[in-house]
Amino acid sequence: MTTGSLDWFAEVRACTEALVNVRSVSPSADESAVVQTVGELLRRDGLGAAYAVCDHVAIPGDPFGRCNAVAYLPGQQRATVVLLGHTDTVGTEDYGALESLATDPAALAAHAHDLIGDDSVAEPADWLFGRGALDMKSGVAVNIAVMRHFARQALAGTPPPVSLILLATPDEETQSAGALAATGWLADFRRQHDLRYVGLINTDYVAPRYPGDPERPIYTGSVGKLLPLFYVVGKATHVGDPYDGVDANLLSAEMVRDLSMNPLLVDHVRGEQTPPPVTLHLADLKTSYNVQTAFAAWFYLNVLTLSTTPEHLLATVQRTAQRSLNRVLGRLGKDYRALRRDLAAPLPPHLLSGAAYTYQDVRRLAEERVGAATVARELAAVRQECPARMDSREATLRLVAALWQLSARPAPAVVIAFAPPYYPHIAQQPGPLLEAVRAVAARHADQGVVLREFFPLLSDLSYMRLDAANRTEALIANMPLWTDGTPDPTVAGYSLPFATIHDAQIAGVVNIGVYGYGGHQRGERVYMPYSFQTVPQMVYETILSLTEDVV
Ligand SMILES: [Zn+2]
Repeated sequence: MTTGSLDWFAEVRACTEALVNVRSVSPSADESAVVQTVGELLRRDGLGAAYAVCDHVAIPGDPFGRCNAVAYLPGQQRATVVLLGHTDTVGTEDYGALESLATDPAALAAHAHDLIGDDSVAEPADWLFGRGALDMKSGVAVNIAVMRHFARQALAGTPPPVSLILLATPDEETQSAGALAATGWLADFRRQHDLRYVGLINTDYVAPRYPGDPERPIYTGSVGKLLPLFYVVGKATHVGDPYDGVDANLLSAEMVRDLSMNPLLVDHVRGEQTPPPVTLHLADLKTSYNVQTAFAAWFYLNVLTLSTTPEHLLATVQRTAQRSLNRVLGRLGKDYRALRRDLAAPLPPHLLSGAAYTYQDVRRLAEERVGAATVARELAAVRQECPARMDSREATLRLVAALWQLSARPAPAVVIAFAPPYYPHIAQQPGPLLEAVRAVAARHADQGVVLREFFPLLSDLSYMRLDAANRTEALIANMPLWTDGTPDPTVAGYSLPFATIHDAQIAGVVNIGVYGYGGHQRGERVYMPYSFQTVPQMVYETILSLTEDVV
């Protein structure tokens, strides 16, 4: 294979600056303008005629009227490589006094030292600053430059060896509405044009994981995420008589102690591991001050996954929560008798035992008590009171609490459900794409390029492939907001197009990322020599290599 290095730098730099200049904070209607810019950059210099499709496609039912940018360059084979990137960014408030310059890399260059504080930049001219410069408009620019290269050749009479699709999505920083809609488009397009998606290349950024980290990994899969939510039911009592109840905060504290930052809940796969879980929220459900203990509390736990399925995680946290509950009640019972100076004193029932239930358990118990039709009707009524814009965790809590009431089970207890969002993890797939990036990484090892499996950031990538091992039945059965069929757009709900993701039939995914520092911070900057020259060259070489393998 000829892999002579092409000259990418100037074009990727120009495209990056053009994209950063268009503000596209997610979620907002602003995200549409930058999608138009993607189309303009692809077509510039008369290249428009090369593409069979170069358009924007509306996201069905999107409240901000946003679109995906799509381009299709037919190649010599129906084997097709998809180039993916997101065009939205996080907000710009963190720039403070410089906020008006946040999308102007040229103006920000003069403020480099202010933006990065003490952290010195060795060669200031090598870095491009600005919101989205790293995450990930430079990555989209890489994809545009690679498409333009092949478009030029197509117009000169040589179509690309494989077919190419470019996809640029909004909303990645929020709920991946663009990527989720794109899977449907990919599935339909594949059938209409009889294409075969041999690989998808995402170009989202990579950053050093610790000071002095020399590696710039190409990732061959992605981390996933689950968000178990815990509804902890105690029994309210007056502070003067605490043993007449159980403090829900005490129960929650013990569970959080056992779950949060617990190394036993770290997911290990083939030498890679997740960070341990942490809570993202914890509160009781009292709404004002009084001298009663809290009757209920809730918290949710962020769990990153490499191989853990929803079913497995649920079983693990249920076991852990049950142990925490038993330990608190055991201690309270012992103290109760000791304080009474009567080691045989009968314990009140709420100190004898408590249960850790899954949402599915409680649903069955409620249905046994009042009938499935009543449970469905009551839950639907609660959902009607949760508007679509309500926080999904809050809406989940309301449904769990309502179901608990219907079950009429005794306290203390904890009910564990899943709240949105869910990001499936993706394991690396053996095949031509993996072999292609393995060779590419080896060829660019002098730049610190290595192969790793799990892209560590939550991203659109999670929704591009569904591993067969990652079964979703337990997720759906324990996610109160899960919505089958056509959702009511006015009320809270959540669903993922699992069947469509499957139907897109993307054989494998990789992330060949641009590189820099300070993603989601005011010091956000992309390292240009690597990102604007080596990254597009590696994407290009991966495409050529896939050609050889599938011929
Ligand atoms: Zn990103």
